[in-house]
Amino acid sequence: PAEHYLNGGIRTGYNGRTNIEGLYSCGETAATGAHGANRLASNSLMEGLVYGWKIYQDIEKRLKSKTVKEERQVLSTVDSTVMGSAGTLDDKKAPGGTKLDILTLISSLRNMMSREVGILRDSSGLEEARDFVQFHIGNENLYNRTDKDILEFANMLTVANLIIKSASIREESRGTHMRFDFPGKDDKNWKKHIILKKDKVDFKKVD
Ligand SMILES: Cc1cc2nc3c(=O)[nH]c(=O)nc-3n(C[C@H](O)[C@H](O)[C@H](O)COP(=O)(O)OP(=O)(O)OC[C@H]3O[C@@H](n4cnc5c(N)ncnc54)[C@H](O)[C@@H]3O)c2cc1C
Repeated sequence: PAEHYLNGGIRTGYNGRTNIEGLYSCGETAATGAHGANRLASNSLMEGLVYGWKIYQDIEKRLKSKTVKEERQVLSTVDSTVMGSAGTLDDKKAPGGTKLDILTLISSLRNMMSREVGILRDSSGLEEARDFVQFHIGNENLYNRTDKDILEFANMLTVANLIIKSASIREESRGTHMRFDFPGKDDKNWKKHIILKKDKVDFKKVD
């Protein structure tokens, strides 16, 4: 089995904008509001196409409304930020010691997510997955690195953490989210989206 589609992602408006200035999201990474707890077959490829086009239009509009001078200032700020952070990267310390360790950790995370946070979930499996992720996410040697596998592992932990948190909070079954311990749909309490921002949990009602 493999993951088919991620119902959730970075929250965007209908123009693909996120809450970070200049950062857009579309396709599998985005939660545009186009789908509900499930998605209709073939809508995800269409969504990528439509929102990709909307993002292009939005960027074009924004570029036209700015002067060339302002644009140059933005670009030089981005340049100096990237150059500044490059000097602080430190690849001497591997999180578990060797390169092999990080690949083993990635594989363990994948297995854990497939087994406990996949098609069928319950609170004990979600807790097991949460403990695994929490244990590794706090490892400071995972951050400020240039090694691709380490960076990917850190990103995978971040996404896994958000998925586990949302799945644990939602004590019902709906769409592709199926819990053994809460098999029924609960419209009274759960007809709403879960929005996570750092440690904050918000909800948005679905009409
Ligand atoms: C088995 C399966 C069947 C599906 N069937 C359908 C269907 O019938 N109809 C439908 O509409 N949808 C279907 N989907 C869903 C659909 O394929 C995806 O939602 C869609 O392809 C997402 O497009 P995307 O461009 O957002 O992401 P992706 O197609 O995942 O593209 C992301 C790209 O980024 C690259 N990448 C990753 N990390 C990095 C990095 N660090 N640097 C540079 N590049 C990177 C990847 O290699 C990849 O090429 C299916 C999905 C699966 C898994």
